[in-house]
Amino acid sequence: MKRILVTGATGKTGSLVLKQLRKQSDRFEAIGFARSPAKITELFGSTAGFIVGDITDKSSLESAIKGCDALVILTSAVPQMIAPPSDGKPPQFAYPPDGMPEIIDYQGQKNQIDAALQAGIEHIVLMGSMGGTNPNHILNKIGNGNILIWKRKAEQYLIDSGIDYTIIRAGGLIDELGGNRELLIGKDDLLSTNPPDGISPIIPREDVALVIINALIEANARNKAFDIISKPEDAPNATVTKDFASLFAQATGGM
Ligand code: NAP
Repeated sequence: MKRILVTGATGKTGSLVLKQLRKQSDRFEAIGFARSPAKITELFGSTAGFIVGDITDKSSLESAIKGCDALVILTSAVPQMIAPPSDGKPPQFAYPPDGMPEIIDYQGQKNQIDAALQAGIEHIVLMGSMGGTNPNHILNKIGNGNILIWKRKAEQYLIDSGIDYTIIRAGGLIDELGGNRELLIGKDDLLSTNPPDGISPIIPREDVALVIINALIEANARNKAFDIISKPEDAPNATVTKDFASLFAQATGGM
């Protein structure tokens, strides 16, 4: 029985991970960490099994993580629309001043890794994003946040921490059913700069949640960092991924 803390548990992927972990209650005791009791109640019916806190507040993390075996980090800065599309111009996005990527995706993740180190956590699964090898990536321009750059700095910090890590850098996230696709592992953004058969580098959030949960189980996922996308459901010769040990065996360690 492993006790797992899931941060960002009111997020789109975080809530899926927490719900899926809770379905395996013979194997996992899953605790959610999130900052809004109202959002927790809206998504989960009550705040039972949650710790309310903020990743910028080290003390709330330190008490939440005590007694856990593993940490799943699903927090991220979230840009907000500040101007809708008008006159053919695209919408404008910005981050709140206390929610800039440097504060959330770097300092906030670092706070979580430090708390995990202090508590003797054995394994951290961190969800990142593809695109980070390109400093000029469009996502870095949003709100001058350089979000992918800060995410990668946090990933390097995790690797250097000495805690067992699994860094999962997803392609574009879509809200479709999981468990119906062949998943493809890569590195250095090659799956988007040079995609096999020209497929779109996307993946359902439910599939990422499956990957995260299997990363908590399979030894092959330890000390690996990888990009992940999916083949379209109707792709010719696609075989739905079920053997996660073999999938993780294709991944490598280091950035
Ligand atoms: P999401 O819904 O944006 O969730 C982010 C979570 O972080 C939210 O639950 C948010 O809390 C939480 N959070 C932010 N600041 C916090 C703070 N100070 N303290 C505590 N919690 C805080 O995430 P997602 O769309 O599922 O994405 C998951 C990850 O995948 C992110 O790292 C994202 O960058 C990455 N990714 C996204 C894409 C894409 O296509 N969108 C592609 C690849 C990778 P609230 O619920 O209270 O707001």
